[in-house]
Amino acid sequence: MDRNYWQLGSWWRIPVAMHWTVLLSFAWMYLFFWDVLATLIAAAAFFVLLVAHEFGHVAILRRNKIPVFAIRLYGIHGEIEHGYASKAQSIRVAWAGVGAQFIALLLALALMYFTAGVSNRVLSVILGPVLFVFTRVNVFLMIIALLPIGPFDGHDAWAAIPYLRGRVRKRRMARLEHEKKMRERAVLPEEDLSPERLRELEESSARAAAEVIGRIAKKAEKREDKH
Ligand SMILES: [Zn+2]
Repeated sequence: MDRNYWQLGSWWRIPVAMHWTVLLSFAWMYLFFWDVLATLIAAAAFFVLLVAHEFGHVAILRRNKIPVFAIRLYGIHGEIEHGYASKAQSIRVAWAGVGAQFIALLLALALMYFTAGVSNRVLSVILGPVLFVFTRVNVFLMIIALLPIGPFDGHDAWAAIPYLRGRVRKRRMARLEHEKKMRERAVLPEEDLSPERLRELEESSARAAAEVIGRIAKKAEKREDKH
């Protein structure tokens, strides 16, 4: 790997590398806070968010038994090198990144709610930047991640719409085909019957016919008696 990256070791048995652009988050956060301590805390939270996104992808890859070779972190998004994934798997893997971010957002909102009345200075110094990154910056990063351009997840994530539409269409076709078959069967019931069952049916209908003929004959006899 070239000098634009730092190797961060193996996490969960996956080699993780960080591109220098991740450090731009310090500049970005400083523009928000104009304070070194808040910037350091916010940049750390930002890094956690990037990693959470990537490990959202990894969780689904692992669940689908797809080998993960490497993770590279960039300024606003990461990149994962992994084995072959089917169309359906790629869609799920793509959504898992923003899925992990969404969980972080919910946790941050819950934390915000429960710490609203607390007036501890140390806590507010730490929580302020962390909650800012996990809510506002988080939503911004989710939107970026879902852009259908460049190296982001949007391509695979939004492929879900034509994919699901195709599946619905396929299911509808199968149902129509099935209904057609059932209708044909209703018109030609003997098609699927075994020879024994067919003989049985023929015999029983012959018996029924004989019975009806017998009854009519009896009635005719009675009528003749009256005359
Ligand atoms: Zn992603």
